[in-house]
Amino acid sequence: MTLEVVQWAEATNAIRAAESILLVTHISPDGDAIGSMLGLYHALSEMGKKVEVAVDDGVPDFLEFIPGWKEVSRRINGQWDVMVSLDASDEPRTGEAGAFGRSHSAMVINLDHHATNTGFGHIYLVDPLAVSAAEMVYRWLKWMEHPVSLESATALLTGMITDTMGLRTSNVVPVTLRIVEELMTLGPSLSDITYRTMVSKPYAAIHLWALSLPTLKLQDRLVSATVRADDMKKVGYYDATDGGLVSLLAVVEEAVVAVVFKERNDGRVEISLRSNVGYDVSSVAFALGGGGHKQAAGATVNGKVEAVQERVVPMLRQVIEQGIYNGA
Ligand code: 5GP
Ligand code: MN
Repeated sequence: MTLEVVQWAEATNAIRAAESILLVTHISPDGDAIGSMLGLYHALSEMGKKVEVAVDDGVPDFLEFIPGWKEVSRRINGQWDVMVSLDASDEPRTGEAGAFGRSHSAMVINLDHHATNTGFGHIYLVDPLAVSAAEMVYRWLKWMEHPVSLESATALLTGMITDTMGLRTSNVVPVTLRIVEELMTLGPSLSDITYRTMVSKPYAAIHLWALSLPTLKLQDRLVSATVRADDMKKVGYYDATDGGLVSLLAVVEEAVVAVVFKERNDGRVEISLRSNVGYDVSSVAFALGGGGHKQAAGATVNGKVEAVQERVVPMLRQVIEQGIYNGA
């Protein structure tokens, strides 16, 4: 779904008619996943709806400041009139909460901003030009003329800031700053959100980088590193969020594509991709069954790290040479 499909009226009618609503987002939730979900949670609750929020992995520690985070369940049971899926480009990405919700909800609204969105659900609020799913929630609340509360604003600002890496990504446009300005005016502290989500990291994260960086390699404009499951166990850190080591590699000026291969203890490998403007790594992620944005994408694939590297590096070479992956 590379085109914008935004059905504000249909989505609003579905919400107005609903009594019970389930909100889900993607597994390994990041600031935009939790921020967009809780931003909408507060607004719908203020409208008098019965709202539940769920994601398999729960809320990561560094986001335990967003108002309402304690309301997020890891497991759910029930039936809903409407389920809203936020910031997830495909159905498997919503995990068990999404699968359960889909089969126990009368209707699914797909709210997202990934160009790789597969077009699942009944009603779409998908615009790849939005910098974050939180922006889509903000625009929807405006459309509904629902005043944004301090709680919503804090959650939405977190999504705006984290998905733009602190307003530094190439998709940031003047209207992005106007949205940020309005959210800030409602009270949340931009510096506090930025510090908590973009700056501060546990010592264990840096320790894990130290153990992983010996695998650092630069080969013809591709910078890569590998994170071993053993090392994650050694330091007691399980990074389940965006922008860890791969963001560090992405600063290497001799490279146009950065990749981190993260070995999981379930026989799968998480691939995190970053690229300079002009190089589309979402094409590789999509071909691997994942998704994302041109400049930041990822996928989780079966196999041993070495085998996955052998498969993925040639795909990235094609991106480096042609700007995009067009298939084998
Ligand atoms: P990160 O590398 O920071 O984990 O993710 C960067 C981007 O790729 C995010 O937009 C994220 O949603 C997307 N992404 C990462 N892993 C996956 C995956 O396994 N499946 C899908 N569909 N998207 C992913
Ligand atoms: Mn997002």
